Amino acid sequence: MNGNDTEFRTIDFNKAKIVSTYKNLNRLISDNNDIISRLTRRLQTTLDTSDIIQMFAKELQTIVDYKQLTFSVDGQTIITIGERSGSHSCQYNLTIDDVNLGSIRFTRKKRFIEEELAIIERIASTLVFPLRNANLYQSALQSALRDDLTGFGNKRALDAGLHREAELSVRHKTPLSIIMLDVDHFKKINDSMGHLAGDKILKDLAATIKKSSRQSDLCFRYGGEEFLVILDDTDAVQAINIAERIRQSVEQYSYNYNGKIVPVTISLGAATFEENESLETFKDRADKALYKAKGQGRNIVISSELNVIDSHVQPVAQRV
Ligand code: GH3
Ligand code: MG
Ligand code: MG
Repeated sequence: MNGNDTEFRTIDFNKAKIVSTYKNLNRLISDNNDIISRLTRRLQTTLDTSDIIQMFAKELQTIVDYKQLTFSVDGQTIITIGERSGSHSCQYNLTIDDVNLGSIRFTRKKRFIEEELAIIERIASTLVFPLRNANLYQSALQSALRDDLTGFGNKRALDAGLHREAELSVRHKTPLSIIMLDVDHFKKINDSMGHLAGDKILKDLAATIKKSSRQSDLCFRYGGEEFLVILDDTDAVQAINIAERIRQSVEQYSYNYNGKIVPVTISLGAATFEENESLETFKDRADKALYKAKGQGRNIVISSELNVIDSHVQPVAQRV
């Protein structure tokens, strides 16, 4: 520790037990054994990173005085506890098996002395496994909501996402639309080129949909070759224009499998949320519009709300 600089230490608790040259460390550790075992027990009760850091911060505060604690991961602050005050700080990088779990930083006016650093280091060791478990839990949750082939949200994620967006739309009085789309004659592609080619096309198709949507649009794969895009703050006219843009991009993209170009088109159904309807009815209206698009020859956009004479021209704002 030099002057008011930050001290960086890296702790990999899986590789090594803490070895300190500080001669009174053993006594200090045994003095704080009760705190460590209580904290270890408490940290096992949650899989939430913020809860873990808050429990840790509260417990540490009873033995080491500090004004502010910051926990960050990859340079991004996850949680800050206390007010910034003073220029003295110490920081610990927490790692396990070379996996970076984040870094924890303490700040105060007074310089940290070696005894305090030894205590912080010892108590910080209780964080490693709970943080690792919280990360594993979060990534398990994420992968349970993601479709592996396309990286889009799956059906479960769609239901949660639509529920959230509908609530926001009602609260903020902003329009909400969805587009449902299905690949035209996909069975033929599978039959003539094989399932692997079909998979590769679905992957490329997802990338095309993503590219031609706006940044804020949420894309999901809710069935085999069926996708849904949630468009927040989007009315029926805007929805049909976005759907048309997606349709054109898909039609124009060169899907290539083993050097062979495969023509792909999609049919799309759009619907705009009505405040008093259920989400099931909302999705059902988009599905019916999609079904109509199939019936009208495919490779077109049909809106549940608007009549579209020809999807290549601007929609006519008229209720059906
Ligand atoms: P339509 O224009 O009426 O939609 O015709 P279609 O042939 O696309 O008909 P349908 O939507 O009923 O068929 C979907 C086909 O997509 C059937 C299924 O074998 C195939 N499929 C579903 N999921 C996957 C997948 O993950 N990979 C591949 N390769 N094929 C899939
Ligand atoms: Mg299909
Ligand atoms: Mg289908």
